[in-house]
Amino acid sequence: MQVLPEGGLREKEPMSRHTTFRAGGPADYFAEPHNADQLAEVICICREAGVPYAVIGNGSNLLVGDLGYRGVVISIGKAFGEITVEENRICAGAGALLASVARNALAAELAGFEFAAGIPGSVGGAVVMNAGAYGSEMKDVMVSATVLTRDGKVVKIPSGKLELGYRTSCIPKEGYVVLGAEFVLEKGNPAEIRERMEELAGKRREKQPLEYPSAGSTFKRPEGDFAGRLIEVAGLRGFRIGDAQVSEKHCGFVINRGEASSADLLNLCREVQKRVREHSGVQLELEVKLLGEFSED
Ligand code: FAD
Repeated sequence: MQVLPEGGLREKEPMSRHTTFRAGGPADYFAEPHNADQLAEVICICREAGVPYAVIGNGSNLLVGDLGYRGVVISIGKAFGEITVEENRICAGAGALLASVARNALAAELAGFEFAAGIPGSVGGAVVMNAGAYGSEMKDVMVSATVLTRDGKVVKIPSGKLELGYRTSCIPKEGYVVLGAEFVLEKGNPAEIRERMEELAGKRREKQPLEYPSAGSTFKRPEGDFAGRLIEVAGLRGFRIGDAQVSEKHCGFVINRGEASSADLLNLCREVQKRVREHSGVQLELEVKLLGEFSED
């Protein structure tokens, strides 16, 4: 693809390098466009050639199969990472990390983004997932997202039209690629903002197995309960398949203890779902997105 700059397209790129689970086989092609025009062009080429493509951000909510991805994985990375602050508005490119947005908010003495500082995703991935923590979510602070539509148009969509719900949006269904988002925050006291960010980071360190690769909470929170609690009462704390394990520290996290394959991780998730269903009748739903081809069990 000549549209991409030198090194912007790699063949047989191991997806374990691009996911926080540190698992996943090769993408046939891995494209890193540097701007929206290149991105649109890559997508146009894929569509015209009938080649499947998938857009990823920081890979922190993704499990890619051991057999990899047949098509083009398009990474929205640093080149889309611009952040600008104007009064109480922050515009962030889809490739900006939430931690950077939070740092910029703090520097501009803007409050309301602290909840997202410890979520290891990009703005694009966070908009798609309506990422949230500690009682807040993207929906509360985001006023609009700019997207590339299926037919190659760049459109700014108000948050209210993105069907933002608990870890969902209409973006995958519509085939949009998020290019950036606009957040409106409130003037705040920098010492208090910093303190809140440190408090939440402390909670994460205390409760979450951050020392192991994972994709965060593996399952969605079921109505009126917690996935971690249901997994624990089903006797699955520390339950292991190969190097895939239900974290002993936080049962809602599936972790990679080192050499877990994606099949190990997925089989563990399926087994957890089965045993929780048998134990408490609740069907846990994966929060983590699956991508590519998984080997047979
Ligand atoms: P990816 O994992 O790369 O992609 C996620 C989905 O979004 C995929 O379907 C992908 O196709 C799509 N996508 C990504 N970028 C774009 C784009 N630009 N345009 C269109 N589609 C796109 N999540 C929470 O909500 N709250 C938490 O507190 C939280 N804590 C976590 C803690 C840890 C240790 C880890 C590893 C993960 C945690 N997560 C949490 C999960 C994850 O960080 C979030 O879901 C995050 O928003 C995913 O962003 P990403 O850029 O990594 O997206």
